[in-house]
Amino acid sequence: MKRPRKKTARKPARKVTRRRKAAPGRRGLMFVLSSPSGAGKTTLTRLLMEDDPRIRLSVSVTTRPRRASEVDSVHYRFLDRQRFEQMRDNGELLEWAEVHGNFYGTPRAPVEAALKAGADVLFDIDWQGTLQLYRKARADVASVFILPPSIADLRARLKRRAEDDEAAVRHRLANAILELNHWKEYDFVLVNEDLNRCFAQLKTILAAERLARQRDRALREREKRTLAIADELRRQRQTRLGELIRKLQAEV
Ligand code: 5GP
Repeated sequence: MKRPRKKTARKPARKVTRRRKAAPGRRGLMFVLSSPSGAGKTTLTRLLMEDDPRIRLSVSVTTRPRRASEVDSVHYRFLDRQRFEQMRDNGELLEWAEVHGNFYGTPRAPVEAALKAGADVLFDIDWQGTLQLYRKARADVASVFILPPSIADLRARLKRRAEDDEAAVRHRLANAILELNHWKEYDFVLVNEDLNRCFAQLKTILAAERLARQRDRALREREKRTLAIADELRRQRQTRLGELIRKLQAEV
């Protein structure tokens, strides 16, 4: 495994891997990562994007002010409230939610294009968005909830990040404690005590989910082939029977 670099969260994601073309005929997987702020999800997202050429990141739109370390259209597309509402009302968002008093949403078109092309898509969204994706395409979604090892650790990480003011940190911590209740809605739950270990577990989950879907597809293909053979045999039999009957009728 490539060793994850020490924490450099919120830096523009460096493109170290060339995106690989997706396999034709394959429908992509929606891989969702959620966690309370400060549990290390942003770092894990970046590591996964650097490590795996077969996954594309869904870049959300948000009305939250841009942080100093963030780049527009890389971390988020930063919009004003009016433009966000316009997108939402025009059905341009696959899911959306209000989080910490700001609006966040996933633009629909890039996700649908990627899935159709057979690529997997990584989502860094909250539980509200995850439930909306379940309602739309549960079979295409694999979800992971990242837990901090302790609340003290979460508080320390939020403070260390120091990109939000004191009031925002307090607000995020209070919300984080509420968000923890949603772990049960996820397919997998990981505790991010050790970043390397958590990252390795995340990659294992992604690999297993890809295999499960490949197996489904293989079974579906086999079933389609079997049905086609059965159809062909039926047609041949009907033709033979038709010929036989015509012969019999000709003999009358
Ligand atoms: P932050 O402001 O720290 O970047 O994100 C706050 C929360 O909003 C995080 O839990 C993040 O996962 C969530 N979030 C980011 N983008 C989206 C989105 O497009 N939809 C939803 N539902 N949540 C999002």
